[in-house]
Amino acid sequence: MAILAVLIHLLYHREFADAAIPNDCFAATAASTGENALPKMVCLTFDDGPSTNTQPILKILAEEKVPATFFVCAQDINQEYLPLVRTIAQQGHQVAMHSASHRYAKIYQSTDAFWQDIKALRQALEPYLSLEDLTWLRFPGGSTNTVSSKYGGSGIMQSLKAQTEEKGWHWIDWNVCGEDATASHPNAEKILHNIQEDAAEHTTCVVLLHDTKATDQTVEALPSIIDWFRQEGYTFCTVEQMVQLQSGGE
Ligand SMILES: [Zn+2]
Repeated sequence: MAILAVLIHLLYHREFADAAIPNDCFAATAASTGENALPKMVCLTFDDGPSTNTQPILKILAEEKVPATFFVCAQDINQEYLPLVRTIAQQGHQVAMHSASHRYAKIYQSTDAFWQDIKALRQALEPYLSLEDLTWLRFPGGSTNTVSSKYGGSGIMQSLKAQTEEKGWHWIDWNVCGEDATASHPNAEKILHNIQEDAAEHTTCVVLLHDTKATDQTVEALPSIIDWFRQEGYTFCTVEQMVQLQSGGE
């Protein structure tokens, strides 16, 4: 175990040492390929749920014994599914923050507006889990999105990233994208193909998927996505576990 932790630590710093970002933050373009036999890790992440598609995803993850991370929302549209965050946490997955409203024009109007939205999200989740465990965040659109500047000015993402770290929280993007929530509504086969294409470049993969009511093809694709990463020799972990492993913790 100790050796594995050290190797993962090396891998982590090897992959991200060149990126001008803090070690606990990934950017879409940050990782590069390790050419030797260091352990490969994959974090499956699901954004914008919970929804009607969350339970089927949990069922597959349980059958496959694969942990995942859910960056959740608390919108009017998914109110009735919010209690599922308790189940998600109880089944050993990580629940993390995404946004209450997910409306760019609202949340990116100012840093205050953004934190108001996160406060609303935490309040909505409070009945179902311990808020102390909610320390990871994924910015809607990612940390390098440019749409936010239209509403909150060009420096808003920089400010939000700094403020997240000041709170002692962490943020994370992704480096592999299923493109499962795009307007073209890709089928399961295409989602798997998108992932295979992106993942080929990385020994540590943070995979962006979605569990909204529109992404039933993600559910369809999930068993083959898991199979493929397994065949390629990746270990599945939550975002939190990945960072604990890389820092040498248990
Ligand atoms: Zn989102």
